Amino acid sequence: MKTVSASNVPLIRLADEPDSVASAVAALENGELVVLPTETVYGLAADAANGEAVAAIFAAKGRPRFNPLIAHVDGIAMAERLCRFDPLSRDLAAAFWPGPLTLVLTKRDDAPVHDLVTAGQPTLAIRHPLGFASRIIAELGRPLAAPSANRSGRISGTDAQAVANDLGGSVAMIVDGGAPPVGVESTIAKVEDGIITVLRPGGVTAEELTNFGEVRRAGHGAAIEAPGMMTSHYAPNTTLRLDVEKVREGEALLAFGPDRVGGFERAVAVENLSESGDLRQAAARLFAAMRALDGCGAAGIAVEPIPTEGLGEAIRDRLIRAAAPRSESDKR
Ligand code: AMP
Ligand code: MG
Repeated sequence: MKTVSASNVPLIRLADEPDSVASAVAALENGELVVLPTETVYGLAADAANGEAVAAIFAAKGRPRFNPLIAHVDGIAMAERLCRFDPLSRDLAAAFWPGPLTLVLTKRDDAPVHDLVTAGQPTLAIRHPLGFASRIIAELGRPLAAPSANRSGRISGTDAQAVANDLGGSVAMIVDGGAPPVGVESTIAKVEDGIITVLRPGGVTAEELTNFGEVRRAGHGAAIEAPGMMTSHYAPNTTLRLDVEKVREGEALLAFGPDRVGGFERAVAVENLSESGDLRQAAARLFAAMRALDGCGAAGIAVEPIPTEGLGEAIRDRLIRAAAPRSESDKR
C-alpha cells in the first residue's frame, strides 16, 4: 500500500501496521483528532465525551455548530448505553450493524457524549462502523464522534492523501486503510410509530429497509431533522451538470455504464463510475472520480444519467447537492 505524505501531518500510519491501533487510541485519549478509515468514507474522529476535542472537529471542518455529529460505537451494548431503542430500531441495528446505517434515537441523559455532538438536540445519531474504526472504539471503550473527513460542504474524503491535503494541519494522525469499500456515507434513518424515515440516503438502500417496515423519505426540506442536509454539499470547485444528453465544449464527463452520451468524444477527461453499470462499484468510486475531474481544469463536469434505484438514490443525492447553487449561507 502506498505511503501518504503531507508535510504538515506529524504521523501517518497504514491500518495494517501493528502499532496503528495503539497510536490512534493514545492520540484520541489525549484529546487529539485522528482520521480513521471506515467502510463508508474516512472519518475525522474524536473522543465523543471530550468537549474540546469535539469542538476541534467543528473547527477543522469549518462545520456549523448546529449540525450534529454521528456517535460511532463498537456494537449494540455500547449503543444501548447511549440511547433508548424502540424494537424496530433494535431489529435494524441487529440486521445492518456493523454497516452503513445510522439510527437517530433518543439520547440517554447519562450518555458519555458531549452536548456539542448532538448540537443540543435530545436525539443522538449512532452507528457501528465496520473494521478498523470499530477496533479503535472497542479499545477506547467510549464512542467516537466522527463526521466525514473533509472541509464542510466539500467532497467527502475517500483517500488518505486527499484527506491529508484537505485537513492535514488539524489532525494528529491519519490511518490509511485504502479506498473505503462502500464509498458513500451511511444511510440515516429514524423510526417513529413503527415507520422508518430516511433522513439521508446512503450505503443501505431503501429497498433493504423495506423488509423491516414502511419506509418514507424525508423531503429536501428536512433541514431541521438532519441539519447536515444543506442544499449545497459534496461540492467540487467545478460546476456539475446532471443527467446530460450531450457533452458541451470544454466539459469533463462523469460517465456511468457501457453506453456514452452524445459528444462524449469532445470531453476533456472521462471518469466512468462503473463500465458495467454496477451501482455498488459506482458508489465506491464516486468521490474519487469527482475529485479527479475537479482537478483536471475542465470548464464544467457533465454527468450521465444514473438510475434511481438501489444505491443510485444515494449517488444521485450526492450529485444533486454537489451541483446545487452555492449561496453564502450554504458555504459551511
Ligand atoms: P457526516 O458525519 O458528515 O456524515 O454528517 C452527519 C449527518 O448526520 C449530518 O447530516 C447530520 O445532520 C446528521 N445528524 C447527526 N445527528 C443527528 C440527529 N440527532 N438527528 C438528525 N440528523 C443527525
Ligand atoms: Mg459529511
